[in-house]
Amino acid sequence: MENLMLLSLLLLPSITISIIPVVVYGKKSNHWFIVTPDKLSIERVFSKNKGYEAEITVVTYCQNRKESDDRSKFRILLSFGQHGRELITTELALRLLSILSEEEFLPNMDRVALNKTLNRLVIKVVPMENWNGRKLVEAGELCERRNGRGVDLNRNWSVDWGKKEKDYDPYEENPGSAPFSEPETQLMRKLSVSFEPHVWVNVHSGMEALFMPYDHKNTTPVGLPSKMMTSMLEAVNHFHLKDRCIIGSGGGSVGYLAHGTATDYMYDIARVPMAFTFEIYGDSTASSKDCFKMFNPLDITTFNRVLNDWSAAFFKMFSIGLEQMDELHSKAVASTFDKWVSIDDYLNGYLMERKSRYGKKVEVLDLGMQEIRTYFRLFLLSSVLLLFMFCSRISKSTRPLVSAMTS
Ligand SMILES: [Zn+2]
Repeated sequence: MENLMLLSLLLLPSITISIIPVVVYGKKSNHWFIVTPDKLSIERVFSKNKGYEAEITVVTYCQNRKESDDRSKFRILLSFGQHGRELITTELALRLLSILSEEEFLPNMDRVALNKTLNRLVIKVVPMENWNGRKLVEAGELCERRNGRGVDLNRNWSVDWGKKEKDYDPYEENPGSAPFSEPETQLMRKLSVSFEPHVWVNVHSGMEALFMPYDHKNTTPVGLPSKMMTSMLEAVNHFHLKDRCIIGSGGGSVGYLAHGTATDYMYDIARVPMAFTFEIYGDSTASSKDCFKMFNPLDITTFNRVLNDWSAAFFKMFSIGLEQMDELHSKAVASTFDKWVSIDDYLNGYLMERKSRYGKKVEVLDLGMQEIRTYFRLFLLSSVLLLFMFCSRISKSTRPLVSAMTS
């Protein structure tokens, strides 16, 4: 381990310029990038449950920061570091932010075309979803993937929550005491509800794959969203990943079903039209005890190759996403495929549905159900008390009668 410096991330928001110091692999690789305040902003959100506190940092990119709430923009939500031991994912987040802040540049990338694409996007990046779990890994528990109190944050969401396969391993997959029991999951759900992304990517490592829903069953969704997702993944795989990634549903391709995952929730409940899980690196030759090697590259060449390939893949995905929207917008496409709905109709229907399916109504309903349950319990309790009082009165008043009759 002597040549491996574990990574640390410290975000320091300031009024004019924020600087993010990052210690990456290798010895002399202290790395800084400047968050330009007109394009990038940082917010830190907190949540607490039974004394367990979680913090998540969200970096928002928008070319003109004042337009970050403009609902006509194409919205992308990216999460990294959901599993503590997958350190390389956070490195990719920082590389993407470094490119967005124009401190680093993608090789062979037309900057004018890239700027045109970026001008129409709002990107929210969560560089390290599982900060508490990451601290355990940095303290030497290199196989830890769960959060700071032993819950797998990618099993704590509500779609098919808590179902256990035959090979269920609590060390790996503990889903928590209930869906959204963990503050980290609650914070991510809130973020997805308020931001309403068009694209969600949950970034992991352990293998190289481009997954779409579903994780909890062996199928992909049907219809237009599935077609759009598949064509996007095929293009990304072909142009930047040398066609080496598996493409398909997580449940159908990874070899096991996963229940209560973030991507299934994003697609099914939050109604994110394009919801993915990317697995960006894995070493299948590593011993199962050598978690660092299983999930992270050890040498600087592989490290750079992973970050270069995958950052190019992400920017390709952004531009394909926009192209797909524009394509579906055009009447020509709509008339050629008159059975298909336009992206507007599709997204409107989809987004309206997600608003009614999720959001305030459900929360109000949840709250209502809680109140009804409480009232019902009180009602039961008072009924039992009344019945008890009534019975004791009857028995008192009938006792002389009964005794008179029997005597
Ligand atoms: Zn993972």
